[in-house]
Amino acid sequence: MGRQRILVTGGAGFVGSHLCERLVADGHEVVCLDNFFTGTHANVAKLRDNPRFELFRHDVQEALTMEVDQIFHLACPASPIHYQRNPVRTIRTAVEGTLNLLDVARECGARILIASTSEVYGDPAQHPQTEAYWGNVNPIGPRACYDEGKRCAEALATSYADQYGVEVRIARIFNTYGPRMHENDGRVVSNFIVQALTEKPLTVFGDGKQTRSFCYVSDLIEGFVRLMASEHGAAPVNLGNPRESSMLELATLVKQMTGSKSAIVHAPLPKDDPARRNPDITRAQELLGGWTPAVPLEKGIAETIAYFRNVVG
Ligand code: NAD
Ligand code: UDP
Repeated sequence: MGRQRILVTGGAGFVGSHLCERLVADGHEVVCLDNFFTGTHANVAKLRDNPRFELFRHDVQEALTMEVDQIFHLACPASPIHYQRNPVRTIRTAVEGTLNLLDVARECGARILIASTSEVYGDPAQHPQTEAYWGNVNPIGPRACYDEGKRCAEALATSYADQYGVEVRIARIFNTYGPRMHENDGRVVSNFIVQALTEKPLTVFGDGKQTRSFCYVSDLIEGFVRLMASEHGAAPVNLGNPRESSMLELATLVKQMTGSKSAIVHAPLPKDDPARRNPDITRAQELLGGWTPAVPLEKGIAETIAYFRNVVG
C-alpha cells in the first residue's frame, strides 16, 4: 500500500497516540483530531515537528469535512470515571461523533475503522466472548452511556456499510494498557501502577475475583493496522489478549514487579461491573494474517511501570 492520508480521531489519547506514531513510521500522512478531553499534547509531542503529521482541535460532535483515504475513529472517553462524568456528552460523542465520521467516509470514499469495545458484551453470559454473542448490557445503568453508545455506533457503521456501501471495519477492543495511559486515567492498570509507585494502597474493587484480559498496546496497534488493510468487510473483530487475570492477581503482580510496600485494600465494587471478560480471538487470527498478541503480561507491565516511573518520579 502506498502513502495514505489518514485521519485519526482521538489521536492525542492513549491508544490514538501510539497509532499516530505507527502510521507516521509506516510513511503515511496523519491528521490527528482531538478535543483534548482526556488526550494531551504531550502524547503526540514527538510527532509535532514531522511534516507528515498535523494536529487539530475539534470535537467530533460537530460535523466536519475532510479529504482522506482512511479514518481510524477512536474519539471517545474510555475510562468509566471519565465517560460517566457527563453521560449525555458520552452518548453524543459515541453516536453523533460516529455519524459525523461516517459521513466524512461516505463523502470522500474513505475506509473507516470504528473503535468499538468488549463492553458491547456487557456482563457476559457467554465465556469467552465470540463476535456472535449479542451481549448482556443494562440499558439504563451507569455504564449504559458508553456501552449503548458503542453498540449504536456499531449499528450505524453496519447500516452505512449496507445502505451506502461505505467500507467499514469494526474492532471490538478488549482492555488495553501501556505507556501513555494518563496517570489519572482511572483504569485498573494505571491505577495500580501509580498507587504502587507512590506507596499508596492498591484499591481492589469488590473481592478482586472479577477478571479481565489485558492486551499490550503494541499488539492492539498491529491488529488495527491489519484490520484496516483486510478485505473481510464490516463484521466486528475482537482484538485482545486471551490471557485472563483476576484483579487480585494483577494487584499482586504489580506489587511484586514494582517492589512496592503498598497494602492491597478493598473498595466497593462499582454497579454493573462485569464479572469476567475474555476474548475469543479465532476470527482475528484467521482474518488478520496470523495476528496474535505477542507481548506477555509481565513484559507489558514492566514497560508500563518504566513509563510511569518517569511520570510520577
Ligand atoms: P483515551 O481516553 O486515552 O483516548 C480517547 C481520546 O478521544 C482522547 O484523546 C480524548 O481527548 C478524545 N476525545 C474524547 N471525546 C472526544 C470528542 N468528543 N471529540 C474529539 N475527541 C474526543 O482512551 P483510549 O484507551 O485511548 O481509547 C481510545 C478508543 O478505544 C476509544 O474509542 C475507546 O472507547 C476504545 N477502547 C479502548 C479500550 C482500552 O482498553 N484502551 C478498550 C475498548 C475500547
Ligand atoms: N478496578 C479495581 N481497582 C481500580 C480500578 C478498577 O479493582 O482502581 C477493577 C474494576 O472494578 C474492574 C476492573 O478493575 O473490575 C477493570 O476496570 P477498568 O476500569 O480498568 O476497565 P473496565 O471495567 O472498563 O473493563
